[in-house]
Amino acid sequence: MNMTVNITFDYELFFGANSGTAQKCMLEPTTQLMALAAQHAVQFTFFVDAGYLYQLQQHLHIPACAKIFELVSKQLKALQKRGHEIALHVHPHWQDSFFKNGQWHINTQRYKLADFSKEEVSLIFENYHRVLTQIVGKPCMAFRAGGWCVQPFAHIREALMEQHIFTDSSVYKNGYHQFKAHAYDFRNAPTLEQWRFDKDECLPNGTGFFTELAITPHTLKPWFYWELYLKMKLNPAHYKPIGDGTWLKDKKKIYKQFYSSTHHFACCDGYFASQLIPIYQNLQRQQRSRMVVLGHPKSLANCSFSLLTAFINQVKQDGNAVTRLSPTYI
Ligand SMILES: [Zn+2]
Repeated sequence: MNMTVNITFDYELFFGANSGTAQKCMLEPTTQLMALAAQHAVQFTFFVDAGYLYQLQQHLHIPACAKIFELVSKQLKALQKRGHEIALHVHPHWQDSFFKNGQWHINTQRYKLADFSKEEVSLIFENYHRVLTQIVGKPCMAFRAGGWCVQPFAHIREALMEQHIFTDSSVYKNGYHQFKAHAYDFRNAPTLEQWRFDKDECLPNGTGFFTELAITPHTLKPWFYWELYLKMKLNPAHYKPIGDGTWLKDKKKIYKQFYSSTHHFACCDGYFASQLIPIYQNLQRQQRSRMVVLGHPKSLANCSFSLLTAFINQVKQDGNAVTRLSPTYI
């Protein structure tokens, strides 16, 4: 049975104390990804943090913001031209963030779409999607919620319909996180690669308007995090992320990873990309039809590119396709 492999990237800055620079978090690693994709004749999907673009557009009177807006727009156009998919990623906390003294001040008090009223959500989608559409000249076909915070789906359903977006890729089976403003619970999600749904993204409904293309789940053992920690200590140039910002961290969750198994997903960030071939081979044994990988340009490390190359070679050698989530625009 053939399998489709979708490698997806959330194209964004960091949302911790230091947002990092667009150069290191987005532009440079994505340029490397474009070269890798061209070399192997494959296409990726980029979930673009359109709230950042919306904010940049509001700050065009500041030369630094105007320059970044120009560079990011140029890269997005180039991605689209080369057949990669530009999809919508929404981090609504941009509503409360601002640029001052040469840097972004990120306010994550309202991190989830559910923290805003339905009317506000509609306006956020309208504004964010418009700026992205203006840049690439085509509307998006797929959506991923910032920080996986897609729940409750009923709260954002109309806003997505208004934008004619009917594909979501925010769910990974067994994903569960409750941390201040940041929360999701996918423990009840179906054990499927994709399903139709309507008001609840975890409840299949054959006549629903929406399709979930789920991020492939994966359980990580504590030894993986010990190995990762050691590799980053011993060879940071090879294993540390290219991005120059800081994560929005949940320290309790990080410590837990070192002593118990954690529900994660097929990921190409840093050394996580070492898990891609074993996950893929396991899916093949289960005769699965789709694998959705999630990564971030900001979190790629030098090691990620060689691991991604080995993974893509393996998939292609088996006669399977590495392609974008949504079909190419007509
Ligand atoms: Zn994100």
